[in-house]
Amino acid sequence: MNIQNELLSIIQDVPNFPKEGVIFKDINPLLRDPVAMKKVIAEMVGFARELQVQNIVGIESRGFFFGLPLALQMNLPFIAARKKGKLPGIVVNESYNLEYGSDSIEIQKSALNIGERYLIVDDVIATGGTAKACSNIIEKSGAQVVGFSFLIELAFLRGRDLLQNSAYKFPIQSL
Ligand code: AMP
Repeated sequence: MNIQNELLSIIQDVPNFPKEGVIFKDINPLLRDPVAMKKVIAEMVGFARELQVQNIVGIESRGFFFGLPLALQMNLPFIAARKKGKLPGIVVNESYNLEYGSDSIEIQKSALNIGERYLIVDDVIATGGTAKACSNIIEKSGAQVVGFSFLIELAFLRGRDLLQNSAYKFPIQSL
């Protein structure tokens, strides 16, 4: 079985969670499967190598499950992008819109090195708002976003389009 079909058989759709109308992608069965997890990380390593990534950013919280093993495998720094108020010291913050209201994420300024190459990792891209905010933090700090890696892409929400700008098409991996 190829990795895509294997993931489709492992990841579970949970209707109406955490609220009515949402089909939640439950990745916990994948986290319990070390053989499949290693295949996922190997795919992400292949993508990140091609982009000559220097830093891996994981988005809170499920992006950590993939970003950290990826960073360790590649001997690269892992950087946590966290919800507002969780990180000590000087942080760079970016707000983004949710269906109702807004939220914001932040990264420690000391983790953002001017000119270095950053890959952003999360479990799911839906509208793309979270990943876009993360990418804005990196770019406004003078560092470079070189791509995005997701386990799951909810393609019908067109989050991919939000991540692209007119000048540059970011490479986006979704398994
Ligand atoms: P978005 O900013 O709309 O792209 O949403 C992405 C974030 O929301 C990711 O951090 C995901 O973990 C989470 N998310 C959105 N939709 C789903 C879904 N259907 N199942 C699981 N997680 C989701």
